[in-house]
Amino acid sequence: MFSKKKMNTSINNILQVIDEADAIIIGAGAGLSSAAGYTYDGKRFDKYFHDFKEKYGIQDMYSGGFYPFESLEEYWAWWSRHIYYNRYQDHLELYQKLLKLVQDKDYFVITTNVDHCFQKAGFDKQRLFYTQGDYGLLQCSKPCHQETYDNEKRIKQMIKEQRDMKIPTHLIPHCPHCGKAMTINLRCDDTFVEDQGWQQAMNRYLDFLRRHQGLKVVYLELGVGYNTPSIIKYPFWKMVEKNKEATYICINQETYCPESIKKQSYCLNTDIKTFLESLVQE
Ligand SMILES: [Zn+2]
Repeated sequence: MFSKKKMNTSINNILQVIDEADAIIIGAGAGLSSAAGYTYDGKRFDKYFHDFKEKYGIQDMYSGGFYPFESLEEYWAWWSRHIYYNRYQDHLELYQKLLKLVQDKDYFVITTNVDHCFQKAGFDKQRLFYTQGDYGLLQCSKPCHQETYDNEKRIKQMIKEQRDMKIPTHLIPHCPHCGKAMTINLRCDDTFVEDQGWQQAMNRYLDFLRRHQGLKVVYLELGVGYNTPSIIKYPFWKMVEKNKEATYICINQETYCPESIKKQSYCLNTDIKTFLESLVQE
C-alpha cells in the first residue's frame, strides 16, 4: 500500500497525464468487476450457490464454471444462476465513475470481462472490444455456424423453473441449425464463435491503435491478472515501450512493469475503487 501522501502525488500526476493525453486506452480485467461488486466467492457465492457448495464442495463461481456436471439440466441450473447474477443484475456505480473520467476524451476499451458492464454503464459501443465473449449470448457448441443468440429470456425462465439444482429438460437450448446443444459464447477453447459484432469490434480496436501511433496515449490497465496476459497486459507493455509519448498506468492489488518502461509508468498497488474514487473526486 502507498502512503497517503505518495498516493495523492500519484493521483495528481495521473490526472495531469490524462488531461494532456490525445487518447486513453482502458484495459480491464476481472479485478474491475470484482471491485464493482461482482465478487465470485465469499458471501455472495454462498448466497446464490450454497446448494452446489454443499453437494459438490465447489468453493467459488470461477471454479464452479469448470465443474463436470452430471447432466445438462444441472449444468444449466448452475450457469443460469451464474449468468443471471453476473450479467442481468447491475452493480454499475464504479463503471460509471470510470466513464466520467474518460467520456470527454478520445477513448477505447479492451476487456476480457464478459459481464457486459461497460455497455450497461453507458460506454460507447463503438469504442468497446470484449475479447472473450459475453455471458448474455449463446452459440452452437460444435459450432456449425458463426452466429450468437441473446439468452436473457431463456436464462430468466431457467431461474424461475429450476428445482433441486436442475432445470426442466425442455428448457435446454439447442442449435436452431444442427440441433446440437448450445453453449455460452465464452472463449475457453477453439470452438468460440467470433460473430460479426466481435470481428467489427476487433477491427475498430486495431484501427484505434493505428490512428494513435506515436501520440500521447495513456494505457490504463485495471484489474488485469495473469490468466490471459497476452490479451491486454503484454501488448500494453510493448506499445508503451515503442512510443516514448505513451504512459502506462497499472492498478491492481499487485502490480509490475518491465524496467524498460518504468519511467513512463505508474504502478499502484491499491484497490480500484479507492483509486477511481480519488481520481473522479479531484
Ligand atoms: Zn449447430
